[in-house]
Amino acid sequence: MLRFGGDYNPEQWPEEVWAEDLRLMSEAGVNMATVAVFAWSRLEPEQGAWDFAWLDRILDLLHEHGIDADLATATATPPPWLVRAHPEMMPVTADGVRLEFGSRQGYCPSSPVYRTHAVRLARTLATRYASHPALKMWHIGNEYADHTLECFCEVSAAHFRTWLEARYGTIGGLNAAWGTSCWGQLYTGFDQVEPPRTAPGPVNPAQLLDWRRFCSDALLELFEAEKAALREVTPDIPVTTNFMSILHGLDYWKWAAAEDLVTDDAYPDPADPESHVAIALSYDLMRSLKRQPWLLLESSPSAVSWRAVNAPKPPGMMRLHSLQALAHGSDGVMFFQWRQARFGPEKFHSALLPHGGTATRGWQETLQLGRDLKALAEVAGSYEQAQVALVLDWDSWWGLEAPESMPSDRLKLKELLLDWYRPLHARGIAVDLAPPGRDLTGYRLVIVPNLYLCTEESAKALSAFDGELVVGPFSGVVDAADQVHPGGAPGPLRDLLGVTVEEFWPLHDGVTQATTAGAARTWTEWIHATDAEVVARYRGGELDGRPAITRKGGVTYLSCRLDDPAPFLDTVLARADVHGVEVPRGVEAVRRAGHLFLLNHTTDPQRITLPQAGTDLLTATSRQGEIELAPRDAVVLRLEGRK
Ligand SMILES: [Zn+2]
Repeated sequence: MLRFGGDYNPEQWPEEVWAEDLRLMSEAGVNMATVAVFAWSRLEPEQGAWDFAWLDRILDLLHEHGIDADLATATATPPPWLVRAHPEMMPVTADGVRLEFGSRQGYCPSSPVYRTHAVRLARTLATRYASHPALKMWHIGNEYADHTLECFCEVSAAHFRTWLEARYGTIGGLNAAWGTSCWGQLYTGFDQVEPPRTAPGPVNPAQLLDWRRFCSDALLELFEAEKAALREVTPDIPVTTNFMSILHGLDYWKWAAAEDLVTDDAYPDPADPESHVAIALSYDLMRSLKRQPWLLLESSPSAVSWRAVNAPKPPGMMRLHSLQALAHGSDGVMFFQWRQARFGPEKFHSALLPHGGTATRGWQETLQLGRDLKALAEVAGSYEQAQVALVLDWDSWWGLEAPESMPSDRLKLKELLLDWYRPLHARGIAVDLAPPGRDLTGYRLVIVPNLYLCTEESAKALSAFDGELVVGPFSGVVDAADQVHPGGAPGPLRDLLGVTVEEFWPLHDGVTQATTAGAARTWTEWIHATDAEVVARYRGGELDGRPAITRKGGVTYLSCRLDDPAPFLDTVLARADVHGVEVPRGVEAVRRAGHLFLLNHTTDPQRITLPQAGTDLLTATSRQGEIELAPRDAVVLRLEGRK
């Protein structure tokens, strides 16, 4: 079954409205509702004074209407009574400002008070609803790190020290790892170590890297604490928390391992004609995290409410974006939210049931999507590994984008990923993402856009791969402690790549460097091909004649960021024998285990020659040869004689 529904906040509405909600949900084909995400102050208006009656009735009503509940642990906003009793649980900024109640995620991730009460609430909910037939999934917290990724209070500082002691054992170990002999930072005890608060100048990058790791781990501990309470009472109910696409702050490889099901919230900007490309990349990450189908838990039917200018989705775009998520492995489409709010910061955020009610084009599109999802039911649960993988590593990302200490602050990991993803996507080639240590068996082509931080283990895993491997610039530079590998880059990748890097040569904005493989921008390097063939050379400028791209066996090293990597990519794809689907610009072709999704993201009709005949599930018609796709229309083919 494909899931369809969204966040449902009945606590914001009088009970007279509930009957209409349930009737309209049934009419639309809604089969799952996320409830109680921000309901703590409603469930427990004073400590221990529980009010479950309303939630009892809502869960009963949902079940009576055949709708499953994705029940939240309601811990995303601690209630006023808890904050007033324990003001020290509110987060503190790097400048020492303690934040005030009045928004959401008002908690220090390390606060024992918050944790104790959050676990108590989770256990109380689990105990009350353990046998409720509507309960099908636990939704822990909400969008971790959206507002509160880090806290610089004394409690967090103590937690950081505990984390560091566990990692390094002794203060000598920390001093060695952090290189504190630089700038006179030698510590003589863990009690001297603080979080990287605002300082007179650049902060030790190794300290920052460990802080990033710690902040991701501290929030994960919170998630794990609630999960443990739920597991005790309801061991068979799957747990999730809604991710936020490709998020810098949290190491989702680690987080996904703690979940039963990966879920994601995705809000591509309708005003950006290219937004479907970047969101496809994050969908592919979601599918790759556990190498299984995932679920789009939040998306917007039309406009959001948090950009400076919030463009609505024109007619057809909600359907198209929903089908896109399915194409990339989601087992359903859920929205924020069911009924559009009348108050609060999200009152202008669109909903499946708009302010105008059922006499709106929005509601007609909700009904249409419900019908479409029923027609596509057979894609649920299907998964297959792609032939191409992009390597993504959070440690490396954090190290690469450390402020004020790098050769250039212009190398951004998401942009480097998109450099490769964009042309792969345009060619209709399915792409997985992988952490650097993963077994890469089965892939024909693996691209490492950047691996600034590269451990021996990562290098070993990459060396074990026997397909086409492409490694991007500024890789293999530092070890896990952000210390430059002996002899410099590419460190543990030296034998694999057959090159040494003598000097980094970053370029200013707008400056390009010619190479025989096309122009480079942002980044070039002075390298030596010690044991590799030179595939392309720099032309002109200070690096004239020096190697730009090298190749050793099936391994290619790019010492630069190509302005247009597509021509180079095509030669690599040919070598790897990877073939996509030929489609016009703006049309997305995605294979999902025996099905081919063709999505027209343009506002013009597009003609496409189908690579194989099939049955379009949306219209229940056979299609072959050349077809025309209307603007923002799609076909979903069940392929005949699939390859
Ligand atoms: Zn704190």
